[in-house]
Amino acid sequence: APGGAELRARAEIDLAAVRANVRALRERAPGAALMAVVKADGYGHGAAACARAAVEAGATWLGTATPQEALALRAPGAGVPDHVRIMCWLWTPGGPWREAVEAGLDVSLSGTWALDEVTRAARLAGRPARVQLKADTGLGRGGCQPADWAELVAGALRAEAEGLLRVTGLWSHFACADEPGHPSITAQLTRFREMVAYAERQGADPEVRHIANSPATLTLPESHFDLVRPGIAMYGVSPSPEIGTPADFGLRPVMTLSASLALVKRVPGGHGVSYGHHYVTPGPTTLGLVPLGYADGIPRHASSSGPVLVEGKWRTVAGRVAMDQFVLDLGGDDPGPGAEAVLFGPGDRGEPTAEDWAQAAGTIAYEIVTRIGTRVPRVHV
Ligand code: PLP
Repeated sequence: APGGAELRARAEIDLAAVRANVRALRERAPGAALMAVVKADGYGHGAAACARAAVEAGATWLGTATPQEALALRAPGAGVPDHVRIMCWLWTPGGPWREAVEAGLDVSLSGTWALDEVTRAARLAGRPARVQLKADTGLGRGGCQPADWAELVAGALRAEAEGLLRVTGLWSHFACADEPGHPSITAQLTRFREMVAYAERQGADPEVRHIANSPATLTLPESHFDLVRPGIAMYGVSPSPEIGTPADFGLRPVMTLSASLALVKRVPGGHGVSYGHHYVTPGPTTLGLVPLGYADGIPRHASSSGPVLVEGKWRTVAGRVAMDQFVLDLGGDDPGPGAEAVLFGPGDRGEPTAEDWAQAAGTIAYEIVTRIGTRVPRVHV
């Protein structure tokens, strides 16, 4: 371990892969700018390091959910160049909007509530807020409903005329872009064009119009507009099995999660393993203890199903995943304490992928990488 430090487990982050993935995504959307989505600590990969790598590969925007995440990227220590625009889209009442305006962040607004608070922040900051109006074109989550769009657009343009804000963007988000051919995709695109056209007829003059997440960036050129906003794909993870594998798009998985076995021991047949004894050894065997558990983001739903590579062989989680550890049945092999257990990675060494863990846990690969906990050091290489 580096410096002789104990390294129970590690998430190795391949920044060259981030750069290559961002380049591959830019080639898919050659006419559009690229906003690298680095919310949730860069989907668990480290926000600042991944943001810098994305910018090196040509991203000119960064996207986050919360203003706190965006402000952290604007701080000098993050190393993000000043010319890079940063947008945050999760408006909540009482947020640090004055700081956001002072820092020149682009703030998303979905309703007139937020408009009032952001214009107050702009007055306090003594400079116009950069505001992107979000249309609910069919997702049914954030965004302004078509019926309320005229009121939001009018309010925003009034505030723009008063010098309190600048409408820098018109944007939306897909519900089902990861299901190619889903009828909601074309319906959302049509509504988006209509809502953008309406705002522009009223006098909006945005710098960017955008709706494309990773699956849309990869498969729907007509959705690219001025800017694409890929998240999961820049980390080399597939948005869904229907879209394809990362390799289908020349994307390389960025995170490799591994641990050192903490113990290997012989047990007789018929031995219950871990809480609830949901696994019972079919005969005499060896058990390997992996020092990672659900507190580290290993899904408890992957009990008795999660795959792990040890000495060239796939082993399966034996019994329940506990808070800090889980067990593998090593089938009589004894690799010795300290042997490497690889949970997931790019697959080059035959290890499982994040998508394999998603399947084992009945979830999506987004959740697998995003939930890896803070006890696991990110080692950027
Ligand atoms: N845009 C918005 C508004 C998002 O919330 C997200 C993430 O969920 C993204 C873009 C990126 O999505 P994906 O990771 O599927 O590319």
